[in-house]
Amino acid sequence: MIIKGLAVIAIVTLPMSALLWRQSHADPVQHRYDVTPHKSLRVYLINGVCGLRLLTMPTKTNIKATFHTPLNSDPTPSQGSLMLTSSINGPYRTTWLVFPLWMTTGLLTIVGAIPVFTGPVRQRWRKWKGHCIQCGYDLRGNNSGRCSECGFRYRHDDNRMRRY
Ligand SMILES: [Zn+2]
Repeated sequence: MIIKGLAVIAIVTLPMSALLWRQSHADPVQHRYDVTPHKSLRVYLINGVCGLRLLTMPTKTNIKATFHTPLNSDPTPSQGSLMLTSSINGPYRTTWLVFPLWMTTGLLTIVGAIPVFTGPVRQRWRKWKGHCIQCGYDLRGNNSGRCSECGFRYRHDDNRMRRY
């Protein structure tokens, strides 16, 4: 159930991930979100890479004017890299999370495809064990042609591999 739910989410978000991937090449994006007065999140989509940079003020006594002071170092994510780093630059802490978008897209594709592979494989496994292919109920000794648990009709030759 959880796998199916994740697969549905993956299939729904997959086009978005692919679009972002494409956009990162065609039209690089930089967004800035001021999460709190002391935290600012920058989102980069550049050359197939997604970069998230969280900038944190160390103390709450810093005023917002200070916060907007430009930083000396402003590294943008490099292509194909995967990294999670944190560094302190003066009063600022910078946390970077960089990952290639092919990784996200690939992962979503794999998760979305899981039910395709687990479904038939599980059915074969149940059949081999002599269990109902619908619900997995043990049908050994059941010759009625119908699963007593879920009512699924099965042909006897389907269950030829039953082990008694
Ligand atoms: Zn059944």
